[in-house]
Formats: sequence, structure tokens, C-alpha cells
Amino acid sequence: MFDGSYTTHFQEAAWKFISKFGHRFKQLDIVISHPDFDHYNGITSLLQTRHESLLLPCALGTIFFNAPVDARLLEKGNPKLVELCSSIEKLCDLKQIQWKRTVIQHTTIAPRKVHAIWPSKSMRDKLTEAWGKEYNKNSASIVSLISIPKDHPALITGDAESDNIIEALEDEKTIECVNGIYYFSYFEVPHHGSQGNYKKVGLTNFYSKICSRVYYISGSGRTYNHPDQITVETIINSIVKRKTHATIIVARDWDNEQGSVVKQRAEDHQKYVTYMTGSHFKVSLGKTRTGVDAFTF
Ligand SMILES: [Zn+2]
Repeated sequence: MFDGSYTTHFQEAAWKFISKFGHRFKQLDIVISHPDFDHYNGITSLLQTRHESLLLPCALGTIFFNAPVDARLLEKGNPKLVELCSSIEKLCDLKQIQWKRTVIQHTTIAPRKVHAIWPSKSMRDKLTEAWGKEYNKNSASIVSLISIPKDHPALITGDAESDNIIEALEDEKTIECVNGIYYFSYFEVPHHGSQGNYKKVGLTNFYSKICSRVYYISGSGRTYNHPDQITVETIINSIVKRKTHATIIVARDWDNEQGSVVKQRAEDHQKYVTYMTGSHFKVSLGKTRTGVDAFTF
């Protein structure tokens, strides 16, 4: 599981998913991309409420997140990060769950299936130096690459900066890159579709390099107005330009004015774009049943 959203969202969606499908998993490993409440509050609620009588249908494996290893730095660190580290670690120790907080490029999260491709060691060291002062949490967001047998991989980006994602993709030799384009079966649009996330590479240029069958945007428009209309329109334009077919999924609450403009734009190009907002549908991924083959929202 990648991130846990806010507690309410976690309970509405993730917990329902785990209760229904958890018996299929050998164990549940969790990646917390970075220490912002909208990514980890649900996980702390899972750890807080988990006890024998609450029927978690599978074992909890390891919780992965990023923080400096040096405890002295931790003491004077960013309060939010300190809170994350101490609450997650305390809860894990209490429940005898493993945790790992040194997740950098090439860290294996699930053997042969999931690898962290960001942050790089140099980025992490840079951030560690700045630990007690300004700490750009998004730059340290863990970007996870999921291998899917006989298919393109999935990329889970958290709130990572687009420049860093491109750097990570360029460094990762296992990803297929044809004429400068990276192919995915599933792509999480970074930072909830915020348009402010494309400093060097630029929004249009970024999506000209990404080709995915599914683009998932975890923004509802309620907080920070994410996703930005321009981001979703740029994704649609890139799909239409390539004449490929793709599905764009936006969280169910994005039914405001911006959302309806984008919906119209997608309907104009329905030959190439399937556009969905909603909470109960299924997207099949992969051609075998051995890997990750479905996401249900
Ligand atoms: Zn976020």
C-alpha cells in the first residue's frame, strides 16, 4: 500500500479494500512517500486501531518511510517529521511490526516487484543537512516502481517534484524508454495534479515523456484546488497527440467547474481518452495473475 491519505479517506476507501481483498495478500507492506498528513494519517490510524479483535485479513509486513538515521538530527528536526518518525516507530514497536526509514534509490521494497527509484542518495544527504532548518518534504518523496510481469511497470510518485522524477527515470536502467518516452501501465500524477510541480522540465514537456494506460490523480479539488485544470488538460493533449488510448481517473469529488471543463475536453476526444471520476470502479492492469493485476477504487 502506498500512502494512507487522511484518516477519514483511509477508513472510507483503503480499509474497505483491505477488509475485502486482504485475504489474498501474503502480507501488507506499506510505503509512506513523505511525512505530510494527507499521506500518512490513515496509516497511523491503522496502526492505532489494529488489535487482535479487529480482523486484519493479512499480516502487516514492513512500513517504509524516509527520515535521517541520526537520532541527534531527529531531535532538532522538522516537527512534522519528528512526529511521523516517533509515532510510526512507537506504534510499530508496540505491535512488533518492522519499520525501515532509509529508503533511497535502489531500495527493494518487495522482492523483485517494487523498488524505490527516488530519492537519490545525494538528494537525501542534502535534505539531511537541511533537516533542522528548511526541509522540502516533497523533494524527498519516495517514488516507487512496480514491475508487472509481461507488461509496463507502474509508477507511484507521491508528491515528488517532476524534475526529480525525470532524473530518477533517466538513472533507472530497467525502464523501457523509446525516443525519450517512458511507458507505464499505471502512473500516479505527482502532487495531486498540482501545476506548480514542473519547475525545470515544464508541464507539457513532462507529459510528452510519460505514456501510460492509466493516469490516476489523487486530488478532490477540496483542498489546495488540486488537481489543477491545466495539468489534466495537458495530460489529455499528450494522449491525443500520441494517438494512444488512456484512462484518466480523478477522485470522486472533482465535480466543480474546472472538473466539468476537463470532462468536456475528454468527451471531445473520447476516441483516445476515457475519463472517470468516482469511487467504485475497477481498472485491470497486467496480462497475468502473478503480478499486480487490478486496482479498485
Ligand atoms: Zn500530498
